[in-house]
Amino acid sequence: MNDSDSAIGLDETHGPLSRVAALREAHRCLFCYDAPCTHACPTHIDIPTFIKKISTDNLLGSAQTILEANLLGATCARVCPVQELCEGACVLEPTHQPISIGRLQRYAMDYVYDRDIQVLHPAAATGRRIAIIGSGPAGLSCAGELARKGHSVTVYEKRDLPGGLSTYGIISLREPVEVALAEVRMIAQLGVTILTGRELGNNLSLTELQETFDMIVLSVGLGCSPQLGLPGEEHLLDGLEYVENSKIALEPFSVGKRVVVIGAGNTAIDCATIARRLGAERVTIVYRRTENEMSAYPHEYDFAKQEGIAFQFLAQPAEVVFEGGKLAGLRCHQMRLGSPDAFGRPSTAAVKGGDFTIEADQIVKAIGQQKPAIFAALGLATEDGYIAVDYEFETSIPGVFAIGDCIRYRGEASTVMAVQDGKMAAAVLHAKLSAEVATGKEA
Ligand SMILES: Cc1cc2nc3c(=O)[nH]c(=O)nc-3n(C[C@H](O)[C@H](O)[C@H](O)COP(=O)(O)OP(=O)(O)OC[C@H]3O[C@@H](n4cnc5c(N)ncnc54)[C@H](O)[C@@H]3O)c2cc1C
Ligand code: SF4
Repeated sequence: MNDSDSAIGLDETHGPLSRVAALREAHRCLFCYDAPCTHACPTHIDIPTFIKKISTDNLLGSAQTILEANLLGATCARVCPVQELCEGACVLEPTHQPISIGRLQRYAMDYVYDRDIQVLHPAAATGRRIAIIGSGPAGLSCAGELARKGHSVTVYEKRDLPGGLSTYGIISLREPVEVALAEVRMIAQLGVTILTGRELGNNLSLTELQETFDMIVLSVGLGCSPQLGLPGEEHLLDGLEYVENSKIALEPFSVGKRVVVIGAGNTAIDCATIARRLGAERVTIVYRRTENEMSAYPHEYDFAKQEGIAFQFLAQPAEVVFEGGKLAGLRCHQMRLGSPDAFGRPSTAAVKGGDFTIEADQIVKAIGQQKPAIFAALGLATEDGYIAVDYEFETSIPGVFAIGDCIRYRGEASTVMAVQDGKMAAAVLHAKLSAEVATGKEA
């Protein structure tokens, strides 16, 4: 499906579908009973129903079906790894092209955002107050769902712009900033107050929140890249900042001619793509294991190879190299794989005398995200560095809940998982608050 596709610089890879293309695609859907795509979607959007509504030109109804299950349907339509989720489960997949569920979802969501139509509305006020810390997908989803139940919700966000990684971290060829901010406006129109420049642990305290709100939800995500412990590491660029600077020009952003990206996940591929698309002559991803152990999705790996990005496997960064005071390369140890480690991945060992240097004038570190210090500072129990929660998302501090990437010690961190956490936590909080109302507890 190439309708309106464009791939210039960091413009969105896929353009919007035309009406004809959307209708053609919607009419290909078999509208399965007990549809496997709906089961495969972590937010369980009723996919056959929203596609059926597109096929009858009922785009408002289609958007409503999507939003009832997933308040961030416009973001998810663009960023979900659909090959692994809904489209991967499509019954047409083995023999035909699967239905382009993500692009149809975007078609319906664009219809309402382009026209500024507020599809959902809040219920009558309950008088209960909830604070949400962090305005990424998890926090916004939770805030919107609670507002729909009539609760008074305030979101505190430390950055200047709300939206979390949808605004700052997802490469614009997948999601432009405007899409994330349109969803923030929709959540605000549900009656949610969003206060930016307010950071828990800095200019906002837990005690202050506990005095003012009935319940508190932490949706603070994770931090920047951890340290590698390399000599010269201070000259490396942080992968998340690299994406952010390419998206929101906080300061002049330029890519090098020869760029090395350290890491093997989707963020590494995003950074390498940015460098390549913005003019780098040679971009090399360096990873200490092999392509079999990479955490990037297979389709992202294929995409990177098509972009002309080179991969240097079995290479462990050892030292940043300078010539004449200028960054000149990355010295690496040649590695070999050994027996499996505690996580079942092959261990690595340096090959004696196998060091080599990759030329570079810019090196980006994209090796995942650190667990923020605030978890320990608040006295929260943690598991593997993430905030530990029970099956109702409650942390070790009663009345304080946590959702999204900051609790993702099991399973993969993704936007749609964060949205689902927000939705499920809102249901838990609503049930608890309703029980309090039923037993006559004062608001
Ligand atoms: C580079 C990159 C690319 C990605 N690409 C994709 C993709 O294509 N598809 C996909 O599904 N997923 C992708 N992900 C993962 C996805 O973005 C996350 O899983 C999702 O954003 C998690 O949502 P969240 O709300 O838990 O956290 P976040 O989006 O990180 O939001 C947390 C928010 O909390 C705020 N905050 C933090 N601390 C405080 C504090 N103390 N006080 C107040 N506010 C605070 C932060 O500023 C931020 O706005 C990507 C991640 C990265 C890093
Ligand atoms: S939210 Fe994501 S996984 Fe679910 S149907 Fe939409 S694109 Fe597919």
